[in-house]
Amino acid sequence: MRVLKFGGSSLANANRFLEVAKIITDKAQQGAIAVVVSAPQGITNHLVYLADNIASKTAIDQGLGQFQQASTDIINALSNQLSGFDGDKVKAHVSDLVGQLDRYLEGAHLLAYCPEHINARIISLGERVSVSLLEGVLTAQQYQVSTIAPEKFLFTNNASLNAVADLAKSKAQYAEHYSELSGIGLMPGFIGTSADGQLTTLGRNGSDYSAAVLAVCAKADACEIWTDVSGVYNADPRAIPSATVLDYLSYQEAMELSYFGAKVLHPKTIGPLAQHHIKCYIKNTAKPDAKGTLIGNERSKGDSVKAISNLDDLTMINVSGPGMKGMVGMASRVFAAMSQANISTVMISQSSSEYCISFCVHSADAKRAKKSLQQAFELELFNGLLEPIQLQQKLSIISLIGDGMQQQQGVAAKLFSSLAQARVNVIAIAQDSSERSISVVIEERKATDAIKVCHQNFFSHHQSIDVFLVGCGVVGSELIDQIARQQGALAEQNIDLSVYGIANSKGMALQSGGIDLNNWQAFIEAPSQRVALTVEEIKNFVRENHLINPVLVDCTSNEALAMSYVEYLEQGFHVVTPNKKANTDSWQYYQALRTAAQHTKRRFLYETTVGAGLPVIDTLQSLFRAGDKLHQFQGVLSGSLSYIFGKLDEGMSISQATAIAKENGFTEPDPRDDLSGMDVARKLLILAREAGMALELSDIEIEPVLPSDFNAQGSVTEFMNNLVQIDEYYANKVSQAKSEGKVLRYIGNIIDGKCKVSIEAVDGTHPLSAIKDGENALAIHSRYYQPIPFVLRGYGAGAAVTAAGVFGDLLRTLAWEQVS
Ligand code: ADP
Ligand code: ASP
Ligand code: MG
Repeated sequence: MRVLKFGGSSLANANRFLEVAKIITDKAQQGAIAVVVSAPQGITNHLVYLADNIASKTAIDQGLGQFQQASTDIINALSNQLSGFDGDKVKAHVSDLVGQLDRYLEGAHLLAYCPEHINARIISLGERVSVSLLEGVLTAQQYQVSTIAPEKFLFTNNASLNAVADLAKSKAQYAEHYSELSGIGLMPGFIGTSADGQLTTLGRNGSDYSAAVLAVCAKADACEIWTDVSGVYNADPRAIPSATVLDYLSYQEAMELSYFGAKVLHPKTIGPLAQHHIKCYIKNTAKPDAKGTLIGNERSKGDSVKAISNLDDLTMINVSGPGMKGMVGMASRVFAAMSQANISTVMISQSSSEYCISFCVHSADAKRAKKSLQQAFELELFNGLLEPIQLQQKLSIISLIGDGMQQQQGVAAKLFSSLAQARVNVIAIAQDSSERSISVVIEERKATDAIKVCHQNFFSHHQSIDVFLVGCGVVGSELIDQIARQQGALAEQNIDLSVYGIANSKGMALQSGGIDLNNWQAFIEAPSQRVALTVEEIKNFVRENHLINPVLVDCTSNEALAMSYVEYLEQGFHVVTPNKKANTDSWQYYQALRTAAQHTKRRFLYETTVGAGLPVIDTLQSLFRAGDKLHQFQGVLSGSLSYIFGKLDEGMSISQATAIAKENGFTEPDPRDDLSGMDVARKLLILAREAGMALELSDIEIEPVLPSDFNAQGSVTEFMNNLVQIDEYYANKVSQAKSEGKVLRYIGNIIDGKCKVSIEAVDGTHPLSAIKDGENALAIHSRYYQPIPFVLRGYGAGAAVTAAGVFGDLLRTLAWEQVS
C-alpha cells in the first residue's frame, strides 16, 4: 500500500484535478493506494478569514458566496471537460457543506464568539470539497472509491487547531474500521478527532501529517507528498531561484528542515514515518516524471551543509533578573508556564551567567506566553527579582541543516561571516548536540538577505556585485561598456556583476533584476523607475531587491556626492570612485571615511584617483602595511600636463598644445582645472595622506601653470582664446631651459614632510625628462626602495584605463572583509 497526498496547489482548478486523477489512476494500476487531499488552493485561507471575522455579517455573507462560487467554478469546468462527471451530485454535496458553514458562522455570530472546535469545523470544510470533487472525477473514470473518514480513526489530543495524533489509538481504530479497503481510498487531510468526539485540525499545512498518520495506520510502504515543486530544495525555491533539488534526505534532516520552516513539509509529518521506517517521497504534480526527493532512514553521505531554511513570524521572550542566578528550577518553571498555556517553544538559549533565559515562540502565541509567565512569576516580578518580561517581535530563525555537519569545523564560522557580509545582526544562537542543525535568530526583515548570502556561500558559490553608477560621462559610459563586455566571462567565474542604477542629472534610473547594458542610453531616458539621488532612495531599492553587495560608483567630480560617502558606507554600500574630492577634503572627513568603512565592513576604493589605471594606491597600501615608510616622492601626476609639456619640448605653443590636448579628451572639460595645478595638488595630497601625513589641501604649495598676471576669467572658449597671451612667456621659458640642456616638466614633490607642485626644468639624466605624451611616472623613495626608487610608469589618463581601474576596484569589493 502507498499513501499519496496532494496539496492545495495541486488542486487549484479543474485541470489540476484531472492531472491528479491521472497520477492516482496510474499508481492504482501498480498496487493498493490511499489518497489524502488538501483543500483547493486558497480555500482554507478564506475559511480562516471567515472564522476570524464572525462579528461581521457582511464578511460572512460575502465569504459564503465566495466559498460556494470557488467550488462551483471547478465543478462546472469538470462537467464540461469530463464525460460522466456527475456535476449535480457534487453540487448537492457542496451545497450541503455550504449549509453547514452557514450554520457554524451564524451560530458563532450570535454568540459573538467562535469556540475552537467550531473554528476547526469551519476551516476544515475545504478538504471535504476536494474529496467530493475527486470522488466525482474518479467515479466518472470508472474507478471504485472508498472514502476514509478521519473522524473514525485519526485520534488526536484536544488542541482543536493544532492537534497531535495519538498513533497507537489511531492504528487500532483504523484496523477496526478499514481493515478491508475496496478500490482507491480517499481521505480529507487536516482533520482529526479528539477522544471526546470533537473535530480537531492538525495545524496549517496539516494534510502532510494526515498522510503520514494514515501511512502508519494502513502499514503503507511509502508516503508520497505531491506538491508544486520537484522535491525538497536546499533552500526555499521561491526565495532563492538558484536553489537545487536534493535527491535524498535522512529522516532527521527532513525533520529539522520542516521544523525550521521549510513549508514543503508539515513539521510533524516525518516523526511517525521515521518511527515506522516508512519511506517518504516528495514529488511534483506538474512534473510527475521528475525524480523528486526520497526521505529515508540512512544517514546522508557527504560532509557538509545540506539545506538552509528560515522560519518567520517569531517573537523572542526574555526572562531575566538578579533573582535568576543559580536559582534551581527556574528553567523548568518557565517552560512549565509555556506548556500550561499549550504554547510550543521554537528555540531556547540561556546565557552562562544564568541571568537570562531567552526563547522564541510563534508570534501568534506571544501575548498568551507573556501572560502565562506573568502569572507564574507574579511574586518574583513584584519583588524585583525578575525584570519585566520582554518581548522582541518580528524575528526569524535561519537554520543550516545536514547530517554531514557533525564533527565538521568551520561551518558556524562561515555562517557568521556570511551573516556579517549581509550586515545581519545575530540576536541568539542555538546548536543541538547532534550537530545536525545550527540556528540563529535574526530580524525578520533581514531573513531573505541572510538566506541569499548563506546560499551563495554554502551552495552556489556565486558572488554578486550590485552596481549603482553615478555619472555617465566619458569614464562612466566607458565603464558600462567594459562591464557589458565582461559580464558573461565573469558569470562563468561565478561572479554576477549587475548594474541596477545609473544616475545622470535627472536622478537615478533603477531596474530590478539589473539594467540591460546594451541598451542603457535609451533606458535612462525612460526608465521603469527613477528616484532622486539620495542614500535613502537607493537604500530602499537595495532592501526591496535584497541586494547584498551594493556598490556606489561615483564617476563624477561632484563635491556634494563625495561628502555623502560616509552615509553610503553606513548604509552598507561599498564606495568606488575616481573622484578626488572626498580624499582631499578635510583630514577629519578623510578619517571619518575610513572609520565608517572599517566599522561597516565595507570598502572605500579609489585606485584611479592617482595615476588613473596605474596600480598606485593598492601597491602603496601593501608596502606601508608591510612596514615600508615613504622618504621622498617625485612624479608627473597629470596626463594632460604630461602631454602639454611634452609638446612644448617639440616647439609647439602652449595655447596650441592645450587646444590639441582638449580636443583629444586628455584634459578636464575645463582645462583650467588642469592648468591651475589643483588636480595635481589633490593627487599629491592623496599620496601624502596614504603615507600617513596629516596634511590639508591648503598645506600644498602650488605653482600654477598659468602665470599670476594672466586673466583666466570667462567662459572656456574665452579662456582658450586668451591662452595665446602666454605663448611667448612659455616660449621664453622653454628656450631658456633648452639652452641649459633641459626640458620643462610639471612635477609633484614630497620632501621632508612638505608637498609642492611646480614647473621644473630637468636635464636629460633626470628620470622625469622622458615622461611626456600623457604618460605618468611616480618615483617612490622609501625605507625599502633606496637608493634606487620604486618607479611606476604608464598612461595616467584616458577613459579606457581609468574605467578599467574602476572595474578592478569593483571586483575588489568581493573581498568584503576590510583589510586595513
Ligand atoms: P502544498 O499546497 O502542496 O501543501 P505548500 O505550499 O504547503 O504546498 O509547500 C510547497 C512550497 O514549500 C513550495 O512551493 C515552496 O515554496 C515551499 N518551500 C519552502 N522551503 C522549501 C524547500 N526547502 N524545498 C521545497 N519547497 C520549499
Ligand atoms: N488546507 C490546509 C491548509 O491550507 C491543510 C493543508 O493544506 O495541508 O493549511
Ligand atoms: Mg503544504
